[in-house]
Amino acid sequence: MALAFAYAIFSGSWLFFVTSLLILLGFTTWGAFDIRLGYFLRVFYRKKNPAAKQVALTFDDGPSVFTPPVLDLLRDFDFKATFFCIGKEVQHFPDIANRILSDGHTIANHTFSHTTNFGFLSTEQVIAELETCNNIISATVDRRPTFFRPPFGVTNPSVAKAVQRLGLQTIGWSNRSLDTVIKDEDRILRRVLRKLQSGDIILLHDTTQRTVNVLRKILPMLKAEGYVCVSVDDLLNLQAYEA
Ligand SMILES: [Zn+2]
Repeated sequence: MALAFAYAIFSGSWLFFVTSLLILLGFTTWGAFDIRLGYFLRVFYRKKNPAAKQVALTFDDGPSVFTPPVLDLLRDFDFKATFFCIGKEVQHFPDIANRILSDGHTIANHTFSHTTNFGFLSTEQVIAELETCNNIISATVDRRPTFFRPPFGVTNPSVAKAVQRLGLQTIGWSNRSLDTVIKDEDRILRRVLRKLQSGDIILLHDTTQRTVNVLRKILPMLKAEGYVCVSVDDLLNLQAYEA
């Protein structure tokens, strides 16, 4: 792309220059919103060719009153999951955050406030969001997460710099349930199962009864298909916490 710019400027082809610029802007916007591209930073979003038939269920935006029923269901099937928690929700529900850990699941960073402006924050502001969340989690459950998932899956140069400076690992997803968007539980179920592959990281939210209902149907189906649900750290063989 840089070469194209240089060529465009030297050749004086303004039409070509403008076209190149628009294409670059398009790619940058797409890169900012499709976490799988890893356009700005390295993003782990699935396990390629896993040895066993396994997937990682991930739950964003909790803890909430819907987290305990999610934990009950996971316990019934002896499945492990990863919870990307919002710092201020950990402050609201410290006991639930502790249960996530004591039930054998992994807790991870999903920023302090989950602001809708996340894509527009400066590097310093992103660092503050990530550090405040980690400070709260660490004070609550005595673990300091190294896994981070950006709100809305947004990545950009500020997020990339913040992640690099704090030494975090960015976790995306390969299977997006759209459980907060789709109202029909069976449609959510079909959407997840239709493209399910071993090694998938599945994005869900422990924030609605709908997701609890979907889980009640999907967990027995996964078990019947021979899948084991494991934490992201076990799936990817990464450390979820600072030493
Ligand atoms: Zn979120």
